[in-house]
Amino acid sequence: MRPFIRTIETIELDGGWLCLDFTNTVSNRFEEPYFDYLSCYKDILKWMKRLNLFSHEEIKQIGSFFKKYPDIAEKQYKKIIEVREILYRMFSSVSRDQQPPENILKRFNKYLSETFRDLRIRVTKNRIVKEDWHRKDQDLLPFQHIIIKSAYELLNSDLLLKVKECDNCGWLFLDRSKNISRRWCNMQTCGSTIKAQKYYQKKKERIMDRHPARDKK
Ligand SMILES: [Zn+2]
Repeated sequence: MRPFIRTIETIELDGGWLCLDFTNTVSNRFEEPYFDYLSCYKDILKWMKRLNLFSHEEIKQIGSFFKKYPDIAEKQYKKIIEVREILYRMFSSVSRDQQPPENILKRFNKYLSETFRDLRIRVTKNRIVKEDWHRKDQDLLPFQHIIIKSAYELLNSDLLLKVKECDNCGWLFLDRSKNISRRWCNMQTCGSTIKAQKYYQKKKERIMDRHPARDKK
């Protein structure tokens, strides 16, 4: 059991990588329909704030802009959710050693080209490289770019081999355990749920063994 009420402000960050944590903003991927913790653009802003991806001031500016232009806010919210679902489908396939569907890769590549279009690099005389975004729009585009870049970096990292899907809830996570044997996004929540289910299943089987007649009726 989790010791807190799950909201977008408290939801576990068990993914171990930014874009994976972003795909884990729904309750349970195996439930139909699942509960979505990002129900509107305001939830996205809350998540951005929580992860310190932007300054307090920048987030406030995006909020004021969206308040003024709710149609743009709604459109961008839908786009961000689309990005999340593309990433989920892509890394879920990867976690099962399957090739991501062609249409998913095509859509990801479209977003990737947008991200690289806006990416700028600065190099200081002390050889420090800094990344920046060409556009400084007060909207969700820079956030989208950061998430897409995080996915691109994971795809090009050795850590890709460690991407897994939780047996209990379908959340994606990086398994950094020594023998890569983790099965759950979180031992306390999902691990204990499965263990409890197995315990009751075994108990039921033992009762059935002792009273086979009950089964025959
Ligand atoms: Zn889980």
